[in-house]
Amino acid sequence: MHYEFTHQSRIAYFTMEIALMSNIPTYSGGLGVLAGDVMRAGADIELPLVAVSLVSRAGYFRQEILEGRQVEHPDTWDPAQWAHPLDAKIAVNMEGREVWVRGWLYVLQGHLGGREPVILLDTDLDENSKDDREITHYLYGGDQVYRLKQEIVLGIGGLRMLYALGFQIRQYHMNEGHSALLALELLRRNAITENGDENHLSYDIPMVRKICNFTTHTPVEAGHDQFPYELVQSVLRDFIEFSELKAVAGEEKLNMTKLALNLSEYVNGVALKHAEISRKMYPGYHVHAVTNGVHPYTWTSRSFSSLYDEYLPGWCHEPQLLVRVDQIPDEAIWEAHRRSRLDLIGLIKSLTGKEFNAEWPIIGFARRMTAYKRPDLLFSDIERLKSIASNHPFQIVMAGKAHPNDEGGKKLIEMLHTHLADVSGIIQSAFLPNYDMDLALSLVSGVDIWLNTPLRPLEASGTSGMKAALNGVPSFSVLDGWWIEGCIEGVTGWGIGNQADKSNGDDARFLYEKLEKTVLPLYHDDRKGWISVMKNAIGKNASYFNSHRMMRRYATEAYVR
Ligand SMILES: *Cc1c(COP(=O)(O)O)cnc(C)c1O
Repeated sequence: MHYEFTHQSRIAYFTMEIALMSNIPTYSGGLGVLAGDVMRAGADIELPLVAVSLVSRAGYFRQEILEGRQVEHPDTWDPAQWAHPLDAKIAVNMEGREVWVRGWLYVLQGHLGGREPVILLDTDLDENSKDDREITHYLYGGDQVYRLKQEIVLGIGGLRMLYALGFQIRQYHMNEGHSALLALELLRRNAITENGDENHLSYDIPMVRKICNFTTHTPVEAGHDQFPYELVQSVLRDFIEFSELKAVAGEEKLNMTKLALNLSEYVNGVALKHAEISRKMYPGYHVHAVTNGVHPYTWTSRSFSSLYDEYLPGWCHEPQLLVRVDQIPDEAIWEAHRRSRLDLIGLIKSLTGKEFNAEWPIIGFARRMTAYKRPDLLFSDIERLKSIASNHPFQIVMAGKAHPNDEGGKKLIEMLHTHLADVSGIIQSAFLPNYDMDLALSLVSGVDIWLNTPLRPLEASGTSGMKAALNGVPSFSVLDGWWIEGCIEGVTGWGIGNQADKSNGDDARFLYEKLEKTVLPLYHDDRKGWISVMKNAIGKNASYFNSHRMMRRYATEAYVR
């Protein structure tokens, strides 16, 4: 490995997915985008990191919409086009045979000059059997056995690769439990024989805990991998003493979250509320809260970037400067937004042929399509929605992929298309295919209202609303995740429902009420008042919910301890 990256010790950031750019489909959603933003912020503030992930040659998938239904296509990419092959080769044992792993070096080039190495692990080598070559092909594909093999490559293979490449690692950070086997490999490597007896190993758990950090990302059960021990034993064999494994990873099953919790001294959730819920899910663990943030330069449209460059120079390195947004004249804010919106309207036209009105507000909703995100809440009462629109016109744009095995999510995409057809004639609308990083930026900057309606308390953080805030687009959202911290009612945006009210059942009613009585009238009748909310989204939300604040916190509270 090049001296540039090995001369100083680094923090190793392990992640199953990472969003480097739209052309590299090694991510599925928020978790991957966050990982990319972690590295981009690291480059900007010159925090020495190295990311370890899988090369996912066949990507997540490319989404096509045919007659309202999602069709999935492989999204194959050629790592040689964007990354350099590395010479080092290591092996991990699975089912009694060696599986060879090589790496690709992707150099993340920050726009402020910083550079960070990203290692993408690859088993597609001549030495491996056909099946083994595909272990790093499909992101979140395959069955439980396939997933376990991927996690062995990521955690155990990733650690061995870092050693082979000559990295000096001072701390490890696990982005979600997928990579927790790395902590097991650290235990194994640092085990010492007792009284010279090879069969009696002593594991130094405190030593491993000192160098491991773990961020948990979701209260949704399916987000936490658990593997039956019969499977673990058939694939991983006698990796570490079985009794020791059960003691740190759970008695019943190998629980990746439990493993990460037990072997990390620093543990955190991704918003205040999420940390509170995680403490209840995992009693006895000290769970900190570091609320997520998004990378300012990546998620700001060109028109707003140049506006900030002019009025708030240095904002990219020091996004706190956005608190001074009142330095920017209202007309300049409105003009920058108008340009982003025209770009989006042009994109909608080119993708769908539909003509959006440049004067009427656009409501945007885009995220992974899955039940708890409730993308259909807006359409709970079609007649009500139509009647609101006939008095206060608005338009709707949506996007999002459903996991290929999530039948409920795919059904939601179909239903949305039906709903959008039902309101046509009164409400102009579009569903844009293949939600990815580029489309996300066009949407969060080009709409006027960013809608989010998850089922509380399942939205651990949510980050797309933070991206919208960077572009002066206020959120209209259920009070969950980051929005509990970001919402100042009527000032930075609007809440839907009541946080204290545990029932989610009335959310649609709350949504319609506020849309009709507060949000749309402000847009149509009080432009100055509207721009003031836009400015507060920038000054009070974007100045805080950014990746630089997040990484400075990880650096001072987790990595240095
Ligand atoms: C930001 C982003 C997400 C995550 O958004 P949430 O609000 O957390 O759901 C998902 N997918 C893409 C492509 C994104 O850019």
